[in-house]
Order: sequence, then structure tokens, then C-alpha cells
Amino acid sequence: MSRNNRDDFSAATVRDLARRASYICSNPECHNLTIGPASNDLEKIVFLGKAAHITAASPLGARYDPSLTPGERRDIKNGIFLCPGCADKIDKNKDKITQLTCYINGSVTMKSGSQRT
Ligand SMILES: [Zn+2]
Repeated sequence: MSRNNRDDFSAATVRDLARRASYICSNPECHNLTIGPASNDLEKIVFLGKAAHITAASPLGARYDPSLTPGERRDIKNGIFLCPGCADKIDKNKDKITQLTCYINGSVTMKSGSQRT
């Protein structure tokens, strides 16, 4: 684990998750665009997306799975690309949303605890 006790994604994994999702939130009920031009500089962009962990990066996070290795927690297969609102929503509702299923095309299904399979 890293110094702050989190198995964070590498910069390359964050970039790949964003590109695979075309910088669009992967929540099928959202699909917000997360990138755009900076209003004060024509050569810059504003990037708001987040590479969220499907199972948490640390034991204190939402949906932590102790059976995964640190490498599995950092792997792109444990990531999903979301807008800031959706990323906060899934982490702040950690008792209700217990499972995220990530598909190869970047879409995600959120299931509540009562719908667990
Ligand atoms: Zn979203």
C-alpha cells in the first residue's frame, strides 16, 4: 500500500479509464461530459471526471474488499469513470450501494443491498 494507506490508480490508469469512457460519466442514468474548454485560456481544458474504485482503495472506503491484493485494487478492472457528482453519490451511499458491475464498454450497473445477487 502507498504511504497514505490507499491503493490509488496510477496516472496512466486514470487516463485510460477516462479515454475508454470518452470522458463521459459511465453511470447510465447520467452520461455527463466531464471535459471542456477552459474559459480563461484557449489552450487549456477543464477536466472534472473521476476514476472511481469499484471496491475501495483503502479499508476505510466504500465497498472495500479485503480479499483483493493491492495490485488488484489498483488495476483498471477495479475502476470506473464517473463525473464528480456520481462518484460522490456512490461513496456517500456506501451502505445502500454494495456492488458495482463494470462492463467492457464502460457502462455500470448500481445495485442496492436489498437487490444483492
Ligand atoms: Zn455522472
